[in-house]
Amino acid sequence: MKKTKDITELFCKLVEIPSPSGMELAVATYIQAFLQKNNVVSCTDETGSHNKSNSGNVIAKVSGGSDLPFLLFVAHMDTVEVGDIAIKPVVRDGMIKSDGQTVLGADNKGSVAALLSALVEIAEWEVRPNVLALFTTREEAGEMGVSFFETSEKIDFAFCIDGAGAQGTFSHKALGQLPFKIEIFGTSSHSALAPEKGRNAISALSHVISQLSLGKLANNVYVNIGTISGGQSVNTVPDYASCEGEIRAYTNQAIQKKLQEIRAQVNDVCERFGCHYHLTECRNEGVPPMSVSKNSPIVALAYEATEKLRLPFKLVAAKFSCEANYLAQKYMTLNVSRGGLNQHTKIESITTEELTALKEMILNLCEAAAKHQGKYVT
Ligand SMILES: [Zn+2]
Repeated sequence: MKKTKDITELFCKLVEIPSPSGMELAVATYIQAFLQKNNVVSCTDETGSHNKSNSGNVIAKVSGGSDLPFLLFVAHMDTVEVGDIAIKPVVRDGMIKSDGQTVLGADNKGSVAALLSALVEIAEWEVRPNVLALFTTREEAGEMGVSFFETSEKIDFAFCIDGAGAQGTFSHKALGQLPFKIEIFGTSSHSALAPEKGRNAISALSHVISQLSLGKLANNVYVNIGTISGGQSVNTVPDYASCEGEIRAYTNQAIQKKLQEIRAQVNDVCERFGCHYHLTECRNEGVPPMSVSKNSPIVALAYEATEKLRLPFKLVAAKFSCEANYLAQKYMTLNVSRGGLNQHTKIESITTEELTALKEMILNLCEAAAKHQGKYVT
């Protein structure tokens, strides 16, 4: 009972500290002070200068046996913008909500509280794995702090704790996203005096778009065109038109295959219209896909940790992109569902039971990793 009270108090403290994306310093300072008080070492990295946050990521470390695995847990510190109003958590009958004026910020302070609380406990274990806890910036907006994270530690398993799915749900896949821009260059001409000399870029672009398959396509590939612009005046054949879109899929191959198809279609239309084109991949604004095999040792760990909690285990392919997408480029990674309901709204909630269970999940993952050491480490 005391443990539930402690983690609930810690959670409420965390949500009361405003931390919109890019303004995480106050909560980062609180996290570091909490860790120091509980004898866990931490530092911040320099990534704030890369993504215009007033703080870097906070990195905490608990060292364990040299023959035991290394686990990385990630939870973002920022919450969606609430303006100038401070979040006031209200705890009633095991349910935590805001006072109705703001979001609650359980996304993702619920994970931050569970991770902090678990870390302090693991530090007291006699036999413990090595654990890095990463508290990140700008997950909700701007460039994610996690995308700049680097460590020389050899990480065996990475768990990103986020997402409002039921606890016991793990994502082993998450859609990657590649934004792109199509620019069509035609020839301008007066619309009445010499329309035949013009090459209408808007007309060419609209042909391109009308030929593209949009929405959900075969093999879980998604294509969207989201913006369009072009032309200067009603009496001029437009020599320029552009649109921006995105491709989402679970592998880079699938994304690139679709991009080549689009390129071939644009090329074909431009040849017919006598126009030129640029098709630009906006890789820096996109997110790499995450795809971890169902047979990976990390899935076995997640299953064991969930079973111990007596929760139903679910392995899913997420339709959103998250911090796990970045981690998965370097480490064997799963996204761990945090629990809670109605994130990003004023009726967001999480239960005290969920906070405790999330902490237990982290402890179970560490315990299982330590128990199986060589067997689960690849
Ligand atoms: Zn989140």
